Amino acid sequence: MKKIKLAVVPGDGIGTEVVPHSLKVLDTIAELHGGLAFEYEHFDYGCDYYFKHGAMMAEDGLDRLGQSDSVFLGAVGDISKVPDHISLWGLLLKIRREFELEINVRPAKVFEGIRSPLLNPKDFDLVVVRENSEGEYSSVGGRMYQGDNEIAIQNNVFSRRATKQAMEHAFELAKSRRKHVTSATKSNGIFHSMPFWDEVFKETAEKHGNIETSSQHIDALAATFVTHPERYDVIVASNLFGDVLTDVGAAIMGSIGIAPSANLNLNGQHPSMFEPVHGSAPDIVGKGIANPIGQIWTARLLLDHHGEEEMGTLLLDTMERVTADGFLTPDVGGGKKTEEVTEELIRRLKAN
Ligand code: ATP
Repeated sequence: MKKIKLAVVPGDGIGTEVVPHSLKVLDTIAELHGGLAFEYEHFDYGCDYYFKHGAMMAEDGLDRLGQSDSVFLGAVGDISKVPDHISLWGLLLKIRREFELEINVRPAKVFEGIRSPLLNPKDFDLVVVRENSEGEYSSVGGRMYQGDNEIAIQNNVFSRRATKQAMEHAFELAKSRRKHVTSATKSNGIFHSMPFWDEVFKETAEKHGNIETSSQHIDALAATFVTHPERYDVIVASNLFGDVLTDVGAAIMGSIGIAPSANLNLNGQHPSMFEPVHGSAPDIVGKGIANPIGQIWTARLLLDHHGEEEMGTLLLDTMERVTADGFLTPDVGGGKKTEEVTEELIRRLKAN
């Protein structure tokens, strides 16, 4: 029996609603598989934990999470309770940094039955591989002078190692998809880091001769992403460009409640972490209407990561049949509850 040990951190707000439902789905997958079992260790880290203990997670929290095969996280933060710099840096970003989760993989496609602002939503089916540890989100820089003379300097940091890692991952991923990688660049306006980015992309592309490539400036790419999404299969992007593109992607998918993500550790020294793109959504918490798809699709990424691609595909295909038949939460124009959507998915998985 193959065992996958998961550290489960529902976190805050709707994280505590969509995670338990997703675990039921994972248990159904394990049952159908026959040779697979999930072992869960639950952690109540988050804003409520902060109020009780003065920290977002226990002192030995990282060690304990680090003993798992993967971390399955819901959402972290609630600005009305705890300032973002405490909640995010005390838990989510701490895990990302300490577990060296250097790339963030975000698939995007429009599910059948879900309204999208695109004219041809079927053409939108791609993956953004985002460098997750440096780039524009570095802490290098500072402010000086005062009054009208004040200036702020923010430096971008691009290391060859992290850049190459993100690109290698994008090419590997493209092999199992439509064999095309697009690089998001801006070397006509950013004179040091982006020509460097292009150089590493070219070197990586040369090693993967069977994969088609293109390179596009981010402004043009962002426009074509909407007008001609069929041109994209895998997009590799820096931290900032990837962040922006994937939020546009979530809007195209119909709701941020659908978008999944995987934060991958590539050196094998720590677990990877799987979390949906959405936050804790305090405005709908407790109503039972959170869209569970982002968390369930995230579970699919976890299955893929642990070599269970077949079960992952079954899960997503079944999810799409559920949406196609109108089992939709209010954020995507339906009237169903989180539980109803999940139960229908489980029923169909079992009926397979
Ligand atoms: P954060 O800073 O943590 O990302 P946020 O408030 O900016 O938080 P979200 O928590 O993702 O962002 O919420 C943004 C909007 O999307 C809210 O109106 C919320 O209700 C909605 N939303 C987010 N996730 C879901 C979901 N799973 N189902 C339905 N609506 C959602």
